[in-house]
Amino acid sequence: MSMHSDESTTTTLFVNAAQTVTCAGAARARRGAEMRDAGIREGVGVAVQGTRIVAVDTDDMLRRAYPDAHELDCDRGLLAPGFVDSHTHAVFGKARYEEQELRATGVPYLEIARRGGGIHSSVRDLRARSTAELFSLAVPRLAKLASGGVTTVEIKSGYGLSVPDELRTLDVVMQLASALPLRIVGTCLAAHEVPFERRELPDGRTSWIREITHEIYPQAAAASSAQFADVFCEPGVFSLDETRTLMSGAIAAGLRLKLHADELHDGGAAALGAELGAVSVDHLAAISPAGIAALAASQTVATLLPATMLFLGTGRQAPARALIEAGAAVALASDFNPGTAPLQSFPLVLTLAVSELRLSAAEAWIAGTVNGAAALGLAGETGQLAPGFSADLAVHNVEDFRALPYWFGERLCRVAWARGTACHKTG
Ligand SMILES: [Zn+2]
Repeated sequence: MSMHSDESTTTTLFVNAAQTVTCAGAARARRGAEMRDAGIREGVGVAVQGTRIVAVDTDDMLRRAYPDAHELDCDRGLLAPGFVDSHTHAVFGKARYEEQELRATGVPYLEIARRGGGIHSSVRDLRARSTAELFSLAVPRLAKLASGGVTTVEIKSGYGLSVPDELRTLDVVMQLASALPLRIVGTCLAAHEVPFERRELPDGRTSWIREITHEIYPQAAAASSAQFADVFCEPGVFSLDETRTLMSGAIAAGLRLKLHADELHDGGAAALGAELGAVSVDHLAAISPAGIAALAASQTVATLLPATMLFLGTGRQAPARALIEAGAAVALASDFNPGTAPLQSFPLVLTLAVSELRLSAAEAWIAGTVNGAAALGLAGETGQLAPGFSADLAVHNVEDFRALPYWFGERLCRVAWARGTACHKTG
């Protein structure tokens, strides 16, 4: 008998939690008023077998049903689903310290990019690094995300901006997915920008869009290194018409859609995403009332990234309350990236959700778990503590679900498991 078959039949009971955030309910995005219920329970634990949750019940009932189980003592902490960080750019080279100061002196983000800085400096840097180096740089960053209780991470390409460098970035994402216990989802964001070296060429834009749709999307889909395609749809970056061309290429290649939409200016991108059936549209700080209505009437998840707006110093945030009150499904993500959100703490995103976006703590939990999962097409797989779901869970050293957004900046996660395997533990 092998060790492996022994391990796969081991049952672990997470017991002695002060409070349990189950988020249990329908396996789909929660919309509007549904977001108020995070399924908070007391005296309830979770049984895990292999990679799955097999029961959620009182500690006594779990012990009776699984008398030989190993016990993991939550020590009167908070037991919760692992967070789903559905929007990151975690594969990159160097940090971009200089831009934070430049913005502080009044130079806006898009102007820095126009001068060849911003995203273009990350592109020059990534192209000069080996695949092995990019992998090694990403590992500790993902460990930091996991140490805040994140168990699923989406990672976008978009700092390669050439056919080989975009595909190479997605290869790194795939290598991370097989090397780490975290669930990692790849997204092709080749349409992050027009490569700097092509800007002055007469067919620079069109030739890049054609390479994305005819070479990068089909090859990434064939290698299964990306499940999604994403476009930075913003006046001055990619127009609505260009985004339509890109998105139909992505659909033809078999990729699902995400969109960077209405981040800095309202260009109608959110409504376009809803029309094209995007799984999520992200940012939305400048979304119009028509965009809000379009999302509320669609299945598209509205993913908000409050850390980015804070770090950019805009003094502005997405209209989260208006989205929820219109009946949209709101998710939260870190937007972890070297230019506009060098943030590796998901609990801090919850703080910003309550204090800046004016979500309730329960809404913030749903937005960071169930709705994050829905933003990756994984609502039936992760984001809740319920039988049959993936064993993606975390124990935090607090006794109340409101304490996580409250004690902001603290590192409170004691242990996190992704697919039945520890991806973080302290001590
Ligand atoms: Zn982004």
